[in-house]
Amino acid sequence: AKSGKYGTVCHCDKAMLGKLRRRGEIVRILKDKLADQSFEMYYQPIYSVKEGNFQFAESLMRINESPIGPIYPSEFIPIAEETGLIIDITYVILDKVCKFINRLLEKKIPVGSIHVNFSGVQFSQPDLQEKVLGIIRQNKIPASAIKIEFTESTLADSPQTVTEFAAEMGKYGIKMGLDDFGTGYSNFATVISIPFGTIKIDKSIMWASTGNITSAAAIKHIVNTFKALNMKVVAEGVETEEQVMSAIDAGIDQIQGYYYSRPLSEEDMERFLAENNRR
Ligand code: C2E
Ligand code: CA
Ligand code: CA
Ligand code: CA
Repeated sequence: AKSGKYGTVCHCDKAMLGKLRRRGEIVRILKDKLADQSFEMYYQPIYSVKEGNFQFAESLMRINESPIGPIYPSEFIPIAEETGLIIDITYVILDKVCKFINRLLEKKIPVGSIHVNFSGVQFSQPDLQEKVLGIIRQNKIPASAIKIEFTESTLADSPQTVTEFAAEMGKYGIKMGLDDFGTGYSNFATVISIPFGTIKIDKSIMWASTGNITSAAAIKHIVNTFKALNMKVVAEGVETEEQVMSAIDAGIDQIQGYYYSRPLSEEDMERFLAENNRR
């Protein structure tokens, strides 16, 4: 709305109103789902090249059912971030993931660690460390079963906070992973100064490198640098056999993508791990 000598004029057109209304509905859905913790968690298996099994997985939030139908993370995550709802949602997610790990361990289904995505907004919370440790302790799972994944842009926005958080979490054995590497935000010196367990190379980079000798060579070089620093390198978005081959050729340690599996419901993930990780 704009105030001028003709009074307040709204330039909002129908499309914009529709957008605002949808946003409002999504905010309400997020609040409802947070209140009764009814959003779903999916899990995408991550393949370990050397071991030939699936020790890791990434947790991904889903809203499959709502009054306006399924809503995709690309739409609801930014809204959850803008409204700050992501902060409490993340604690609920962490708790759900811990409970899932607990159930797997009770059933003797082998699982290494599960990645949980942390949005940059999370790092504005002064009690973040206590909250995270508290949730993991309450659930009585080994701290090493959780890996906190945050993006390059988060690291670029608050390098100090993230570095301190990583160091503190490391003391307790909680792992840290950098997501979206190569999307162009972070300072390489900052990246290598943090004790990341894993660096995940963004899917756009993986896709650009397939069949492209120059960028394949660049990836190989980056992978070697991280490996020399004792970091594992993960490739995401791997869909085809050709991409698997080029990831392995580049020395990538772990591979995540539709080639192995799409994100699975908890039930399907449990079955997947039981079938693919026999001891
Ligand atoms: P991300 O963290 O980079 O997650 C990887 C995304 O790539 C996921 O999309 C996954 O389903 C997708 N993906 C995996 N393998 C392939 C593949 O082979 N091909 C293609 N085309 N895509 C693949 P998703 O689940 O839609 O999530 C999108 C983004 O939303 C995530 O990107 C993350 O930034 C955010 N997000 C999702 N769940 C959560 C969550 O629980 N917390 C937070 N903070 N963010 C989340
Ligand atoms: Ca991620
Ligand atoms: Ca990613
Ligand atoms: Ca991403």
